[in-house]
This record gives sequence, structure tokens and C-alpha cells, in this order.
Amino acid sequence: MDLTLDAEARAFRAEATEWLTEHTPARLPSLDTAEGFAAHREWEHSLAQARWSVVSWPREFGGREANLLHWLLFEEAYYAAGAPARVSQNGIFLLAPTLFTHGTDEQRERLLPPMARAEQIWAQAWSEPEAGSDLAAIRSRARQTSGGWLLSGQKTWSSRAAFADRAFGLFRTDPDAQRHRGLTYFLFDLRAPGVTVRPIAQLDGEPGFAEVFLDEVFVPDADVLGQPGDGWRVAMSTSANERGLSLRSPGRFQATARKLVNLWQQNKNPVHRDRVVDAWIGAQSYRLHTLATVTRLSEGGELGAESSVGKLFWSELDLSLHETALDLLGAEAELDSDWLRGWLFALAGPIYAGTNEIQRTVVAERLLGLPRSPR
Ligand SMILES: Cc1cc2nc3c(=O)[nH]c(=O)nc-3n(C[C@H](O)[C@H](O)[C@H](O)COP(=O)(O)OP(=O)(O)OC[C@H]3O[C@@H](n4cnc5c(N)ncnc54)[C@H](O)[C@@H]3O)c2cc1C
Repeated sequence: MDLTLDAEARAFRAEATEWLTEHTPARLPSLDTAEGFAAHREWEHSLAQARWSVVSWPREFGGREANLLHWLLFEEAYYAAGAPARVSQNGIFLLAPTLFTHGTDEQRERLLPPMARAEQIWAQAWSEPEAGSDLAAIRSRARQTSGGWLLSGQKTWSSRAAFADRAFGLFRTDPDAQRHRGLTYFLFDLRAPGVTVRPIAQLDGEPGFAEVFLDEVFVPDADVLGQPGDGWRVAMSTSANERGLSLRSPGRFQATARKLVNLWQQNKNPVHRDRVVDAWIGAQSYRLHTLATVTRLSEGGELGAESSVGKLFWSELDLSLHETALDLLGAEAELDSDWLRGWLFALAGPIYAGTNEIQRTVVAERLLGLPRSPR
């Protein structure tokens, strides 16, 4: 792996940095509130107008056809500029790669441009009360009707569903098939007749999270992603993206590590010095790991089970960055909303995108070839 950036890469980064420096808003309210969600949608719209919202997508859908390395450089510039969290991330980073692989031309043309412009913001509606880690246990179902399907059941823990426009989720279309079989991947409207979205307050009390109840919700055939009955395979390509490359770019952790070093410079507490160093090294290691992944993918490799290694690493890194900052701040941490909010979010890292216990099992069985754990 050659880490030297060529002139084209350096020019791309400089252009991104210049635009972000000029346009990044000072501060937006939290995207887990109605007001903050609207403000973040506006910001996404500005990004889209300047073609920065989906840099790696084809031009026809609003992108710049940036390769993975350029995408990483964009992400570094984005977080270095202190730009807002991406309210469109479920669509852009999870659904879109799945649409590129499994969607039809008609679906890509209809769904990608409004996603790039944040006119349609997506929620992921996978988890159910009895199907989190054990996703194959889902019970929500769909039955065929004239021209489409009727969806019924309950989804839960859906980030941003309280304010989003549409959702993607798995439903059981063959009631006789067991587990991973007989599932279909559907796209549905969160404001369609028969959908009830009930917000769930998180630790900080904000209501962006939600559970979603569906009662005979009509979805046309055109909104089935992949083939009916093939939903599990389609979903697995979404989840490799969630754990692996796209959702947690190293830029975010590098920016947090720099903030942590600045914090240490302010109070120079010798007790925590080594922890600051370790957390900073962790952020750099994750960057190198991601560059290695980018190289592997560029040479035709796939994300696969290796994405579980990345997921374990970034979720624990995020915790160590924030816990070190809170310990440095001491009692003052109660007054610092940025580090405190970041820490509350980091606490969820080992849970969402598949819990870390499950990722360790994947690493043990699929990468290390250790004996299967009892089922
Ligand atoms: C902040 C946040 C955002 C989320 N956003 C979304 C979203 O947008 N869309 C969505 O669909 N879901 C979302 N989720 C849900 C998330 O995917 C689930 O919480 C997660 O998959 C775990 O499922 P569960 O909560 O049902 O816990 P359970 O599966 O009941 O697990 C409970 C505990 O048991 C452990 N465990 C379970 N099975 C095993 C096993 N076989 N071996 C070892 N340990 C095991 C787990 O690791 C965990 O520690 C979100 C969750 C959080 C916290």
C-alpha cells in the first residue's frame, strides 16, 4: 500500500476543504429533534447542490464518481471542518450501496437522486422486539395482493424514523419458511396509511429514535428490492456496509482524537497522558486499517467478515476517546455538552450495527476458524 497522495488526490482534498471551510454552518441543533432534523436536511441540500453529498456515486445520480481513497479524503476534510452529522446516512451509506448491487435501473433512477438531495430521508427498519441480534427471527410479514404487498408487524429501535420519510426493512413473505428463508426486502413510506411511528426517547431525552407499527401497509411490486424470498442475501450486503467501511469513516475518529489532544493541552493532567496517546494511536491505526481495506476492495476484494473487525475496533475506540475526555474534564464533564453527548452516543456503538458479542463470534468462527459456539 502506497500512502503517498498523487496530485489529483491532493487537489480533490483541497477543493473539498475549501468548500467546507467556507460553507460549514457554525452549529446545528441536534438531529434527533424536529427542528434539528429540518436544519440538517437543509445542510444536506447545500451539500447536494455543490455535489458533495454523495461524492462516490455516479454523476448521473448527483455524485462525483470519487474512488474510495478520495471518498476517505473527503470524509477527513468533512470532520476536520467540524461539519454536522449526516442525517441522510442510512440512505446514502446503507441503502444506496444495496441499491447499486441489487436494485433495478428503474429503482436507482427513481430513488437515488431524491436521496442525494435529502428530499427523501431513509430509516432502517430491521430490528423487532424479538429480533435484534437474532435478525432471522423476524415476524413482521407481507402478503401478496393485486399489484403489490401488504406489510404488517412491528419494527423497533429505528434511528431517525420519527422524522424520516421512508424506510427499508425485511418482512416474512413465506410463512412456512424458516429463519433466513422466505424473507423479502421492502421499501416503504413512513407516512403511508397503516403506518404508526411512535418516538422512543433516548438517554438524552431526545425523540429521534422510534418504533414503527404496520397494519396492512400497501407497497407496490416496484418497491421490492431484489427478488421476493431473497431478502436475507440482500440484507447481508447492507449490513457489511454498516459495520465496515461506509458508516464509520476514520475521519470522524481522527477529528475526535485531535480534539482530545487539544483538551489535554489545556489541562495537562499527567495521570491521563498515556490514555490520550493510546486513543490517538487508535484513531491512526483505524485509519491505516481502513486504507488497507480500501486497497483490498480496489483490487477486487470484498468486505465480508472482516467488517466485523472494523466494527469492534471503531466502537471501542469511540468509547475510549470519550471516556478519556470525560476523565480529563472531571466534574466539569457534566457541563460540557459536546463530550457528554458524544459519550452517550458512543455507549450505543457496541450495540447498534450488530452487537460486539456477535461480531466476536463472527471473527472467531469465520476469520479464525475456531470451533462454532453452541447454538
Ligand atoms: C443507538 C441505536 C441505534 C439503532 N438504530 C437502529 C436502526 O436504525 N434500525 C434498526 O433496525 N435497528 C437499530 N438498532 C437496534 C440494534 O441493531 C439492536 O439493538 C442490536 O442488534 C441488538 O439487538 P437487541 O437490542 O434486540 O438485543 P439482543 O439481541 O436481545 O441482545 C442482548 C444481549 O445479548 C447478547 N447476545 C444475543 N445473542 C447472542 C449470541 N448468540 N451470542 C452472544 N451474545 C448474544 C447481545 O450481544 C447483547 O449483549 C439500534 C440500536 C441502538 C442502540
